[in-house]
Amino acid sequence: MSITQAPKALADQTKVPRSTATKSTSTTNACRMCMPLGACLAYVGFDATVPFLHGSQGCATYIRRYLISHFAEPMDIASSSVGEAATVFGGEANLRTGVTNVARVYKPQMIGMASTCLTETIGEDVPGMIARITHPETGLAAETGQRVPNLVFASTPSYAGTHADGYHAAVAAVVKAHAQHGAETDSVNIFPGIVSTADLRHLHEILDGYQLPHALLPDYSVRLDGATMARYEKLPAGGTSHAEVAASGRALASITLGGLVTTGVELAGDILSTDFGVEHLRMPLPIGIRLTDTFTDRLAELSGQKMPAWLDAERGRLVDAYIDGHKYAADRTAIVYGDEDLVLGVVSFLSEIGIRTVLAATGGHSGRLAAELAAVNPGRNIEVLDDSDFEQIEAAASELRPDLLIGHSKGYATSRRLDIPLVRVGLPIHDRVGAQRLHHLGYRGTQELFDRIINTLIQVRQDESAVGYSYM
Ligand code: SF4
Repeated sequence: MSITQAPKALADQTKVPRSTATKSTSTTNACRMCMPLGACLAYVGFDATVPFLHGSQGCATYIRRYLISHFAEPMDIASSSVGEAATVFGGEANLRTGVTNVARVYKPQMIGMASTCLTETIGEDVPGMIARITHPETGLAAETGQRVPNLVFASTPSYAGTHADGYHAAVAAVVKAHAQHGAETDSVNIFPGIVSTADLRHLHEILDGYQLPHALLPDYSVRLDGATMARYEKLPAGGTSHAEVAASGRALASITLGGLVTTGVELAGDILSTDFGVEHLRMPLPIGIRLTDTFTDRLAELSGQKMPAWLDAERGRLVDAYIDGHKYAADRTAIVYGDEDLVLGVVSFLSEIGIRTVLAATGGHSGRLAAELAAVNPGRNIEVLDDSDFEQIEAAASELRPDLLIGHSKGYATSRRLDIPLVRVGLPIHDRVGAQRLHHLGYRGTQELFDRIINTLIQVRQDESAVGYSYM
């Protein structure tokens, strides 16, 4: 095909969509996960910490199943195992027993606690219970002689927030409980949001490139992507140290990547700004050239250093790749769905390479995604579907017939039914290996994403061609 011809939509327009979406007052396969799941993920990113759910065992099992299938690592989540009796009479005894057992078996430095739908609905006063457990005269230590780990609690009623809200609520709870005042350091707090373990490692690499002392809060890059161990470790090494959490109150500045949360959910960076006077900047996830430039410009300002040569070279290769691949991307269309932060970054990146986002869908309900998309992509009218489920997304996809779906594995069924290729990003990815190794951030992450998207478009063209292309 000559590149002057108008490109034909790649998805076969003659196929009859198999979606039978109907209007419904209920949620069908929500485009988000549950709030304590995000809290557990965040807690795993702190050193010697065990996530603990005050609720039923089923919640812990569901969350473990999701996170293990994505990260392909063992993950222990304790539970107070609230059953029928505790639901009626209160779950404090269960919580106390659970903390005793976790302290004895794991010997953690911190237990990161989160509530569930059940314990929020029956109105459990977890902070009050923690105060009684840690009471110096009548608490657990006095009763058993056992050391009680630091107990941190985030309220995470899943009917009121998403996994992203739960993640940020847990990070905020840890920082609020353990950040300390003192003389300012030259270190920067990075709140990376829900990204892959490869992304976390790459963030370290970029910050080291600017010779900027820093802490990632949290950092699950080792605990959820470690080497094979000869013996099972109950409490694998890795994660943000407690000294780093304490020092976050004395940092030079904080940067939150993403941070689109439901109203009422606090960001750790805001807490440090208000309570400790640490300057806080919230910016979109660095995906695409413009948003990564925004991030690296800020790092240059904070460090007084120029962009390291290797990073500048990665940027240059990415610009070159955009030029090489533009003819495959131009005027293609996509539906992007998932966490608000990731959707904002991916849509902004797509606009750089000529792919038009016909719908940006999310299960989040911050109510700010449309405004942030407009701010980053002025002049583009991008339709946004907040607080959505896959019934709605599939109905929209049936009508819009985009060339691509870009999102996590929960969209696979839609992709299959509508015969629209799916490029997997974000979390959860549980129908492919290597989710933890996918880069999304920085010039490197953008490069990987670009190659995967362009190759998917080429693959469709090959599949739809009568003769096939063997040389593009
Ligand atoms: S009951 Fe609530 S907290 Fe438990 S798994 Fe379901 S959504 Fe999550």
